[in-house]
Order: sequence, then structure tokens, then C-alpha cells
Amino acid sequence: MKKWTKNLLIGTGIYATYSIFATAIIRRQSFVEKRFKGKGIALTFDDGPHPIYTPQLLDLLKRYEIKATFFVVGSKVEKYPYIIKRMHEEGHTIGIHHYEHKSNWVLTPWQLTEQLERTAAAISNCTGERPTLYRPPWGHFNIAVPFTAKGYRIVLWSHIFGDWKVERAEMLYEDLQNAVEDGAVFLLHDCGKTLGAEEEAPKFMLESLASFLADCQEQNIQFVQLEGSHNG
Ligand SMILES: [Zn+2]
Repeated sequence: MKKWTKNLLIGTGIYATYSIFATAIIRRQSFVEKRFKGKGIALTFDDGPHPIYTPQLLDLLKRYEIKATFFVVGSKVEKYPYIIKRMHEEGHTIGIHHYEHKSNWVLTPWQLTEQLERTAAAISNCTGERPTLYRPPWGHFNIAVPFTAKGYRIVLWSHIFGDWKVERAEMLYEDLQNAVEDGAVFLLHDCGKTLGAEEEAPKFMLESLASFLADCQEQNIQFVQLEGSHNG
């Protein structure tokens, strides 16, 4: 085997261990939460805030008196601080979803520290509280995340719906209904500007969610927020 081929194989192996294999192993660990103990459903929304869709979503949640959990992107928090202030005033939980929507597969531990710190600072500038929840974009980990993000509660999801694609819109309402169970953590998206997403997708998500929440009210299904901030 030529030397460069061997080096390439070793390099690929090291990178896969750092990123893909680490993700597969870390996701199975008990400190990575995917459900909660108790009755009801936790609604969580990633990738915002968005200047149009997030306020519409907040209106919808307010109508049904539902508290949710938002995993926000730090650079967008700095762009739309008034939305984060409103989120906080209306009693929702706010967690970290990196400063830019970048995968841990392309971040060094030092870059991840910066992503977490900058987002925590952006959120606490709006709310006066440090966030304690963290959801890595795409649920990607690298080998260093458990150490670098130590001190944060890492929360993934039990149900994901593909709502970042407009073509999923037709099925979404039914998928939400079928997913109802105690302890479920639903993942939806209030911004479609992420890599691989469609900009208009949150519009359809909001329509399906509105119908779903109306049904839930009739059936007395409870919604809970994940706890995740402390003063100072
Ligand atoms: Zn995301």
C-alpha cells in the first residue's frame, strides 16, 4: 500500500472516531435525554428565532396557554433580541443550539466552547438568566462534547417529523397525532433557513401544529416545558 493511501486511511479513521462513531456512542448514553418522566408532551422548536414565524408560533402557544422549549441559534438571538425577550416573558424555556448552525463534526473542542459561550451570553443578555439546556445541531456530537458541554443538560428528542421540508406538510398533522404519548419530546422547527431546510416550511408546520393543538385541547392532552435556566 502506498504511503499516502495508508495516511489517508488512518486520517479517515481518526476523523470518523472523532465524529460519526462518537455520535453513535454518545447518543446512547444516559446523560443524553430523549424523553422525560411524567405526563404529557414536551414541544421543542429548533433553529430560530425567525422574525416572522417565531412570533406567529408564540401567538399560537399563547392561545392554548402552552409553554414550550426553544433551542435557539446565538447569532439570530443577537439579531432579534426582542423575540427572545418575549419568549422569556411568556414563560418558555430557552436553550442553546450553537452560535451558528454548525455541526460538531466540523468543530474543535475550543470552537464548541466558543459556540456555547457566545450563545449563552446572547441569551442571558435578553433574559438575565443563564441557559442550562443544550441541543447540538442535527444531534451531532464529537468525542469531546461530553467534556466541553459539561454543566449543560443535553436534550435530543423522541420524535422528529421532517417538518423542515414543505413536502412533509401533508403528513405532518397525522404524524403529530400518531406520536402522542406521555414523556415524548417533539422536535419541530420555527426557522427554515438552515442548511437542508426550506424557507417556507415553518409556515406549513404552524398550520399543522394549530390543528393538532386544537385537537389536544379537546382531548385534554398536557404540554410541559423542559426546565433549563438559572439566575446569575
Ligand atoms: Zn437545528
